[in-house]
Amino acid sequence: CGIVAGVSGRDVVPVLVQGLQRLEYRGYDSCGVAVHAGGLRRARSTARVAELAQQVQTDGIASGTGIAHTRWATHGAPAVHNAHPHFSHGPSPAQGAAGRVALVHNGIIENHDELRAELQQRGYVFESQTDTEVIAHLVDSLYEGDIFAALQSAVARLHGAYALAVFHKDEPHRVVGARAGSPLVLGVGKDGEHFLASDAMALAGVTDQIVYLEEGDLVDLQLGRYWVADRNGRSLDVAQRPVRTVQ
Ligand code: GLU
Repeated sequence: CGIVAGVSGRDVVPVLVQGLQRLEYRGYDSCGVAVHAGGLRRARSTARVAELAQQVQTDGIASGTGIAHTRWATHGAPAVHNAHPHFSHGPSPAQGAAGRVALVHNGIIENHDELRAELQQRGYVFESQTDTEVIAHLVDSLYEGDIFAALQSAVARLHGAYALAVFHKDEPHRVVGARAGSPLVLGVGKDGEHFLASDAMALAGVTDQIVYLEEGDLVDLQLGRYWVADRNGRSLDVAQRPVRTVQ
């Protein structure tokens, strides 16, 4: 029921975990974090965020690029294999194939059955019972070297409600997001770092510079730059999506 994500020159995992803790009040049944550390790495738990934090530390999960999630299950039981982040390993993956796409989602995808059938036909192997996992594979199937373009094409196929944060193994310093029917804000931090969160409160103490995304917006976070576009890919300038100082 909450998302925190970021691209930074420092280890972003403490910010992600603290952000999840600030979103705990919304309720959740599981939580997880994924980072770009050479390849994709993740930790997921059905326990409290505090235990996820412990797991992250034990496993040495650290990176400047990451996404994190607290889940309130709608499709698929509350269980570690259904917890986000979800990975796509590509079509017909070999045993132990490396993850290519990492994704977190708040909301509900209504046409998940149809998309799952189509992706299974193309060789995608599902590891969960969630509606969310279809988005990870859909993004993978549309990826041609630009994760923003892939997400843009993917959301055009989605019916339902979503806030999303996604990254790709071939683009280590980039996180992209989208929102329709679920909240998502962009936080402009120091030294060129950028964040996404379900609620500005999740970024308290990290940044008070917030861009409120609107319905259908897509967002591209990199170190030192960000970009917001509407659902048609039209670039939105700072007058259209102003940076506000929150208290
Ligand atoms: N529908 C998704 C799931 O059940 C996301 C739930 C959420 O918003 O946390 O995994």
